[in-house]
Amino acid sequence: MEERIDSVEGIRQWTGSIPLHYEYTAGVAGERFLRGLAQGKIQAGYCANCKEASLPLRIYCIKCYGGVERSVLVRSAGKVAALTKTQFGQGGERLGEPVAFAYITFEGVTGGLVHRVADGVRVGSSVRPRFKPKRKRTGSILDIEFFERDLRPRTS
Ligand SMILES: [Zn+2]
Repeated sequence: MEERIDSVEGIRQWTGSIPLHYEYTAGVAGERFLRGLAQGKIQAGYCANCKEASLPLRIYCIKCYGGVERSVLVRSAGKVAALTKTQFGQGGERLGEPVAFAYITFEGVTGGLVHRVADGVRVGSSVRPRFKPKRKRTGSILDIEFFERDLRPRTS
């Protein structure tokens, strides 16, 4: 007697799980950047060929593709170039309070950083990083708690 095998064409999904584990490294430039944050410093890459500082810190220049051997400290105040708020976390969970994120640029530096910003920050606001206390820093982008309005008087 012949056994009948049902076609699998009707099966569109089945539920299961595959145990996978990932570990990502920050890479050479990312590690240098994160170690700087642990010291309360924002470092930009500096291309000697283009004579230009850029963020995020990379091991190569995105203009000339040459190696970026040096980093420079970002000392200027940031400026909010774009701003958004979200009510959802990375896992899609609803947050208690909306969180504001901004794309922050720095004078003399190409590119910028995306980070949380404090209430009251607007597009065009001058901002500076609020770092965690040194003993609580771990070499993470979250060593900067957020950027807040820079109310220091202009020195020019
Ligand atoms: Zn370059």
